[in-house]
Amino acid sequence: MPPTNLKFAPIAPVLSLRERLTLVRQQSLKPPPKLNLVEWADEYRYLSKEASARPGKWTTATVEAARGPMMAYSDPDVRIVTIQCATQFMKTEFLLNIMGYHIHQDPAPMIAIQPGIREAEAFSKDRVKPMLRDSPVLAAIMPPTKTRDGGDTILHKQFPSGHITFVGANAPSGLAMRPVRVVLCDEINKYPKSAGKEGDPVSLIAERMATFWNSKLVHVCSPTIEGDSRITDEYEAGDQRVFEPPCPFCGHREEMKWSHVKWEGRNAKTAYYECQGCKQPWDDVTRRRAIESTRFLPSLGWRATKEFNGHASFRVSKLASPWEPLSKIVQKFLNAGSNPERLKTFVNTQLAETWKQSGDAPEWKRLYDRRETYAINSVPEGVRVLMCGVDIQKDYIACEIVGFGRDAESWSIDYRNFSGKPADNEGSPTSPWRELEKVLNEEWRHPSGARLRVRMMAVDSQYETQTVLRWVRRQSAERVIAIRGEERYPQAIGAPRAVEVHLRGRKKPRGAKQWPVGTNILKNEIYSFLKQEKPTEESKEKLPYGFCHFPQYNEAYFRGITAEQIVPKVIRGYTKFEWTKVYDRNEPLDCRVYASALRVLGGYDRMTPQQWTELEVGLGLADASEGVIVNADSAPDPDDGTPRDPAPPVPAKGSRRIKLVDPVGHWNDGYTSRDRD
Ligand SMILES: [Zn+2]
Repeated sequence: MPPTNLKFAPIAPVLSLRERLTLVRQQSLKPPPKLNLVEWADEYRYLSKEASARPGKWTTATVEAARGPMMAYSDPDVRIVTIQCATQFMKTEFLLNIMGYHIHQDPAPMIAIQPGIREAEAFSKDRVKPMLRDSPVLAAIMPPTKTRDGGDTILHKQFPSGHITFVGANAPSGLAMRPVRVVLCDEINKYPKSAGKEGDPVSLIAERMATFWNSKLVHVCSPTIEGDSRITDEYEAGDQRVFEPPCPFCGHREEMKWSHVKWEGRNAKTAYYECQGCKQPWDDVTRRRAIESTRFLPSLGWRATKEFNGHASFRVSKLASPWEPLSKIVQKFLNAGSNPERLKTFVNTQLAETWKQSGDAPEWKRLYDRRETYAINSVPEGVRVLMCGVDIQKDYIACEIVGFGRDAESWSIDYRNFSGKPADNEGSPTSPWRELEKVLNEEWRHPSGARLRVRMMAVDSQYETQTVLRWVRRQSAERVIAIRGEERYPQAIGAPRAVEVHLRGRKKPRGAKQWPVGTNILKNEIYSFLKQEKPTEESKEKLPYGFCHFPQYNEAYFRGITAEQIVPKVIRGYTKFEWTKVYDRNEPLDCRVYASALRVLGGYDRMTPQQWTELEVGLGLADASEGVIVNADSAPDPDDGTPRDPAPPVPAKGSRRIKLVDPVGHWNDGYTSRDRD
């Protein structure tokens, strides 16, 4: 019989004798730890050269804003610590300090959770291993060469009276392991909604901890979109502390906000922080003095804005980093320009704030009224590449051919519905799949004379999955992909996953590829683009980034592309914002989402001007020797007597090859059409 003073969670597996002895030691026999986390880190922690710009002894005073969260961790009344923070600022070192502290001072079973198993391995190898090597007290406990009965692997490290296990939030087996006392959740916004079929990973983890009276749960991450950010939910569930360094001139204390940062014109070098008490400017030295002075305050500079309930939650931006010059932060903001996706990244990663969506859909009537006069199914001059997004419905297939140009400008070329049940008669000459194949073979004439084909096609495989996968396998792997929309996927499009496909009655495991597409991210982007106003002719301003052009489609199309809205829903006490249909036929939006994912996959959202010029040379729009773009606006008038260059030759059918940009290397993963059968 196990000792009666142990309480096991009902789901806990039977423990080995050694594990039980470990638990007994931890729960009853251990003297209380001597140092708090700050004292321990200042005494024993060393930063590694691989991971830190300032390797050597850790000094909390150099990252003063970390002192509050670290002291909170050592407070016996605190069960949960949440830090909603900027990227590259304190969060990883915070987790590492906690690990080192427990290995050396207060042994405990620990689990460190990353979004996926690959991130967990990388964290263990790239961050934890160097810490163990470079901090002498830890190296003495866990020498790098030590191998004890398999106790030291990348994902599981044992030390006397404790262990640390690294898991991915997507693996329920990892989360449902033996009880743990310390749970460190990194990057929680990237966790899947459900770990396998087991449910919300964060709730699964909380169940693991029920066994220990002195358990600690830590969440760290930078935020994402308002209403869809786990770290923000956790921050709001805690006592919501904000960092308020006192003004060295007047003693005024207020949370450091972006609105207090001032600069002249577009000159980041003029940036300063303005005290809201005395309006004195703080240069970087003054700002650092203000931040460093918080260690002498009883509150350590933090003010809780809600009642404490055992959960200490912190929010801190890059403005509280003494190492980040203000001019550098302002420059990042200026670089983001008016690009909503880059601005969102700035707000999330630098300011540690959620990105606020304006919740309403763009108005369909406004888009309908500003339709343009280019013919449906013709390619306007600004188009550089054609993509096709395909949505599979029960009785028909919908597709949109979209032309993309520089600065994410887009032209809807044609929107088509092919009637016929996609599931039936895959091989039949009247099936809608034949129509889709015709789209792949179709050619459009660019005003330069070049002939364009659809560069890539993305087919939704959520519905009629097997039919879609089989059809996609028969097409060119370089042009046609099967995608799967996932609301919370953290990127526009991710790396493909191998999935099972059923062929001629046989199941072929990993026989097809499915590409995850982050639908929330793309819908946000598309709606921010659709809301862009066209500048008036007098203003002579450039079209805004991502401007969308449409031909004379009917009303149903515009109702369809604006068919969804973000609406608040209260789930388990939290307000969540979810995309909800306000118009039933939302396929135009879905098709645009998939075509936009291809724009990202092809790298067209991050091409350099040089790469654009190369692409334009291929279209006959630019001179290969000089890289000068000749277009309708800059070409001399034919009647002004200036000699003209000969018109670019009209290429033979299929002879123009538009170079595909592949900055992420997705195409070189060894998956060719030969692998398809
Ligand atoms: Zn002041």
